[in-house]
Amino acid sequence: MTDQAQAYTFKAEVQQLLHILSQALYTDREIFLRELISNSSDALHRMRVELLTNSDVVDRDAELAIRVTSNEEAKLVTISDTGIGMTEQELIENLGTIAHSGARAVMERLQKEQRSEVIGQFGVGFYSVFAVADRVVVTSRSFRPDAQAVRWESSGGDSYTVTTAERTGRGTTIEVYLKDDAKQFAEPWQVKQIIKKHSDFVAFPIFYGDEAQPVNQTKPLWRRSPRDVEAEAYKDFYRQLTMDWEPPLHQLHLSTDAPIDLHAILYVPSKRERGLIERRTEGKIKLYSRSVLIQEEAKDLLPNYFRFVEGVVDSEDLPLNVSRESVQRTPEIQRIRKTLTGRLTRELAQMAENQADTYRTFWTEFGPFLKEGIALEPASKDDLLKLLRFHSTQGDELVSLAQYKERMVEGQSAIYYVLANDLESARRSPHLDALEARGIEALLLVDLVDSFMIGSLREYDGTPLKNADDPNLELPELADEQSVEGVDQATFDQLAVRIKDVLGERVTEVRPSKTLKNNPARLIATEAGGQRDMHRVQRLLNREYAVPASVLELNRSHPLIRSLAQLHATHPDNPLGAVIIEQLYDSALLLDGLHPNPAQMVPRIQQLMEAAVRTE
Ligand code: ADP
Repeated sequence: MTDQAQAYTFKAEVQQLLHILSQALYTDREIFLRELISNSSDALHRMRVELLTNSDVVDRDAELAIRVTSNEEAKLVTISDTGIGMTEQELIENLGTIAHSGARAVMERLQKEQRSEVIGQFGVGFYSVFAVADRVVVTSRSFRPDAQAVRWESSGGDSYTVTTAERTGRGTTIEVYLKDDAKQFAEPWQVKQIIKKHSDFVAFPIFYGDEAQPVNQTKPLWRRSPRDVEAEAYKDFYRQLTMDWEPPLHQLHLSTDAPIDLHAILYVPSKRERGLIERRTEGKIKLYSRSVLIQEEAKDLLPNYFRFVEGVVDSEDLPLNVSRESVQRTPEIQRIRKTLTGRLTRELAQMAENQADTYRTFWTEFGPFLKEGIALEPASKDDLLKLLRFHSTQGDELVSLAQYKERMVEGQSAIYYVLANDLESARRSPHLDALEARGIEALLLVDLVDSFMIGSLREYDGTPLKNADDPNLELPELADEQSVEGVDQATFDQLAVRIKDVLGERVTEVRPSKTLKNNPARLIATEAGGQRDMHRVQRLLNREYAVPASVLELNRSHPLIRSLAQLHATHPDNPLGAVIIEQLYDSALLLDGLHPNPAQMVPRIQQLMEAAVRTE
């Protein structure tokens, strides 16, 4: 390496990002400090891990800390750390390309619509500094004894220079020369306030200037006793941890030493979706052992169906040399997982009991995850059953399986449900007629995952669950059934032949119904019940699916069926007959949530309307 500054060009994508950042007039520019402190904190963490096994490092005894200084006159802010530092090669690699996936996502979004909050909420890492700076100097010395200190400098644009530097101590210093319109960020009170606001829970002390007291909290929140933590602190911590601006729906703080040493704060977010660009991804739990960050996104601390939970878990019981790969196989992790899962499940059950409104919100956002748990994790089924809630034919409140059982009528032997695509269709389902006549409640399953779940949910507390479309339901006898005059057998049989003719292989049989009351027709699966639900699963998975052949049951007393039979008897050649038959079939399919293409019905409905308004 020479003493001459070596010039480099940024990769094209960095140039693009820098251009956008320097132009973006956004209100959240202050987050550059959060991003730089977060990088320092990462570098310190990595140093701490290195120190566990390696004593041959520069500045072995230096305190792991971050120091921020500012000079209003020089419009300068500097951030220094005693982290792992960077070699020349690392500097070029790390600060010349975009490694950070968040930055990429933000960039794509920004190119579309220059939204400033996007940057504030998701961070673009190091480069955010160019939103406030017109010149940045990075001086770094790697912890490796043989490495030479290096200096990186850029004024944004498309290039940077790298040269050797003098630096005795290990770590990195970033000098931020502020643009005129950003000079307020050098005011000491501003700097300290920004640190408090965005970096209060960083695990290393952040000092300002020569002050001896760190600006931030240094004892991690999760290691404090829950009794000593104010509600507001949990919210602040959540925001700094997740960058989610919406306060969490619920938090669980657990701090025990026995039987395991475990300090954890788990959050249930208030929304499944995050902001505009990011969907929640899995396993956003940070795992620490003795304050060393072991995993940034630990996936093994909770079952998969709790993957919407975010937070921090810290335990002294984990072997320090536990590697990312071996976490899963560590028995301590299994114990922690059991404890956390148990506590979280209990908390949610309590919420369901004592805070109905909050639980409703929770259920609306995250219910599908728990349903998936029932389908895929049989071992957790019993715990999850208590948390299940359903829409039902009785009112608008969500109902639990236990409540349903309490409301069962005399002689009722099963829990009934209908599957449909939406609540409106479900409430109109022809399969409900027989239940309604007997005052029996039915659960309305309208979630895509419901058909998945129901395969595993065959019974609850000794009572079987049954799909109301099953033709062989054993229902209590009806006391005084008044029979409405229906189509006689001979006429019905003729009509049935005609219908079979029109619908062809779509129906295996046309027969009179014993149960229909309000609806003219319904479709009955010819396959075993589970098969039918599988068709919905196919749709859920977006696979091609063939509409299954079914039995068509007709309500002989329904005015429509009576008129149709009449029409067929008197005018067998009237083309309207076939059109009505097609629509009858399609309507039944639609209510079952199995119609592959409802829009197809429109021309036929128009044809029927024309016929209805025709005057001669
Ligand atoms: P990210 O931090 O998300 O990876 P950045 O663009 O902010 O993206 O930083 C790029 C890389 O530069 C980091 O991954 C890290 O390797 C390196 N880096 C940045 N700041 C420091 C620092 N203070 N000490 C050591 N390495 C750093």
